[in-house]
Amino acid sequence: MRYSKLFTKTLRQPPKDAATINHKLLTQAGYVEQLMAGVYTYLPLGLQVLRNIEQIVREEMNQIGGQEILMPILHPKQNWEQTKGWSTIDVLFKLKSRTGKEYALGQSEEEVVTPLIKSRVNTYKDLPLQIYQIHWKYRDELRAKSGILRGREFFMKDLYSFHESQEDFHAFYETCKKTYLKIFKRLGLTAKATEASGGSFSEKISYEFMVLTEAGEDEILYCDSCDFCVNKEIAKVKEGSICPSCKKKGLEQAKASEVGNVFDLGQKYTKDFDITFTASDGSRKHPIMGCYGLGISRVMGVIVEKFNDDKGIIWPDELSPYRTHLVVLGADDKSVLSKAEKVYEKLTASGVSVLYDDRLDVSAGEKFADSDLIGIPVRLVVSKKSGEKVEYKRRENDKTELLTVEEVLKKVHV
Ligand code: ATP
Ligand code: MG
Repeated sequence: MRYSKLFTKTLRQPPKDAATINHKLLTQAGYVEQLMAGVYTYLPLGLQVLRNIEQIVREEMNQIGGQEILMPILHPKQNWEQTKGWSTIDVLFKLKSRTGKEYALGQSEEEVVTPLIKSRVNTYKDLPLQIYQIHWKYRDELRAKSGILRGREFFMKDLYSFHESQEDFHAFYETCKKTYLKIFKRLGLTAKATEASGGSFSEKISYEFMVLTEAGEDEILYCDSCDFCVNKEIAKVKEGSICPSCKKKGLEQAKASEVGNVFDLGQKYTKDFDITFTASDGSRKHPIMGCYGLGISRVMGVIVEKFNDDKGIIWPDELSPYRTHLVVLGADDKSVLSKAEKVYEKLTASGVSVLYDDRLDVSAGEKFADSDLIGIPVRLVVSKKSGEKVEYKRRENDKTELLTVEEVLKKVHV
């Protein structure tokens, strides 16, 4: 992609109303634009990052047997009345048609996915079943001031599983918990799984996945020497209390952002929609259900909160919108320009994505500042000084190397 043709350019200043690092940097570097509080447009660079995160999540969901579908966002009121969500869920957006009919915007999809299985699950042979989607969610959040960490419109992966027995549910639940930890690792994040209550309709245990960050809205208590972690809101322990799990250390307190969670829904929804199947013993039963959310757009924000410096964003390789950022300096010299063009073509032809700053009328300082702000992990410079080679530098350090294009290709092919 030629930077000169890129639809959005970096801004000189971050927006005045931006209170968080992710809002500031993502806007200034041209990844997103806020339409109103909690609602953002994803620009070409931002959409690419969102797609990269989505793809990692998709691969891992498919790996554990998830089948992807796409459900509507516009829901009939009746489904939400059937679960009592219409009158009890305060974040539910409600719409009235000109015909007087009422609708809800999906804030979660149990009300759609549960009736969807009615005619498709008849016997225990049809179970277990795992279906998921990656789609927009709408919530009437009171506070939406943390950039893309808390949107009124946001992108989520939501998987729903249906099981014959509690044991089968538990086995999948554990698999999914492990897969979540794997996903966060692939995304470059260290997530801690907390224990949390399952919500009003269930006393069952569920997990929240937390990433430590000052921009997070949750407070957690965790142990440094084992996996113990709880949300402070529901905890029986306090900061400094000896870890109830390993008993080795006092608990630490930190701010964190919830990037995902897994819930045991029991038979709440399958009873509400009267979904039954013939079990292996011949009796009619309601399937046991679980839901597994992962905040794709929030993850993008958390990554920016964690990976940045005073110059801009520092993307992990797998998430970066482009693998390399090629900068040509002194392009009014025809031989330098033609060399840069060749490097661009060669990298692109070898399957390496390139953001190519081909601008003629921009200083070296400005190009470097933009490259640091945008945060692509590999910067390549072609100039008179680089001769037949290319200057290679990783975003996170200052070390530069002069390499041939072949050597660059070896380094950037993952
Ligand atoms: P929170 O406590 O932060 O409001 P939640 O418990 O309401 O989260 P879920 O309903 O379980 O969250 O949604 C699944 C995931 O979607 C969350 O773990 C989080 O990563 C993400 N998420 C929830 N609300 C928002 C939001 N308003 N904006 C962006 N992401 C969100
Ligand atoms: Mg919430």
